[in-house]
Amino acid sequence: MKLTFLGTGTSQGVPVIGCKCEVCTSKDSRDNRLRTSAMVEVANKRIIIDAGPDFRYQMLRAGVTKIDAILLTHEHKDHTGGIDDVRAFNFVDYPIIHTIHIYSNTSTIEAIHRDFHYAFASDKYRGVPEIKTHTISEKESFEVEGIEIIPIVGQHSERFRSVGYRIGKLAYLTDMNHIAEAEIAKLESVEVLVINALRWEPHSSHFSVEEAIKIIERIAPKRAYLTHMSHRIGLHSELEHRLPKGVMAAYDGLEVEIL
Ligand SMILES: [Zn+2]
Ligand SMILES: [Zn+2]
Ligand SMILES: [Zn+2]
Repeated sequence: MKLTFLGTGTSQGVPVIGCKCEVCTSKDSRDNRLRTSAMVEVANKRIIIDAGPDFRYQMLRAGVTKIDAILLTHEHKDHTGGIDDVRAFNFVDYPIIHTIHIYSNTSTIEAIHRDFHYAFASDKYRGVPEIKTHTISEKESFEVEGIEIIPIVGQHSERFRSVGYRIGKLAYLTDMNHIAEAEIAKLESVEVLVINALRWEPHSSHFSVEEAIKIIERIAPKRAYLTHMSHRIGLHSELEHRLPKGVMAAYDGLEVEIL
């Protein structure tokens, strides 16, 4: 199984439009962070987690010509805004149409139907994305193309939950601010854990670096990667020295093999 980080930035991305801070003006490519997304390649299938506003460019940059499914963590636009661009995958083998299957919890799938209503209309116009949505139970594992996926639910803010996903020895959690004990229990023996860490200072809807590290220590994976970082987290080159052993800041394009 291979995990590729397609984007590791918070909702505004890094650099932030108009910002002149040292991170936003850094020449280190690892300080350029598109909106948070990842690709998991397993058993000859390619699963994308989240499809935000940078989805099109992320697919081009990673050279992806075929995807098998999209898992969405929650409805925020930095995770869903690029869904219209699945059209390209619909038509790659035209006249064969590849419908794109999207999985998430009830509230997220409802939001997709609201936001992209034209894709689900009875009188669709030509060229709309061909999407089939699948509402998952937050409490039960589900299968995508024969691959078992376990949802891990966390609290994002008072109003929103975010669904993380465990695929074998990999767990991917983003946009969480709290995770209940019963959900942490589902992460036992995970070897690679991805978890969101916005910045060093606490935040109302995201883990800080320290909060993320506390969760990592509980789960004790072999390797942990931080994602969904803001420009306020500091330069990537300095993060490497500030994080404990086994905890790394992810960066766009990073590939992780999970055996
Ligand atoms: Zn987000
Ligand atoms: Zn900045
Ligand atoms: Zn969010």
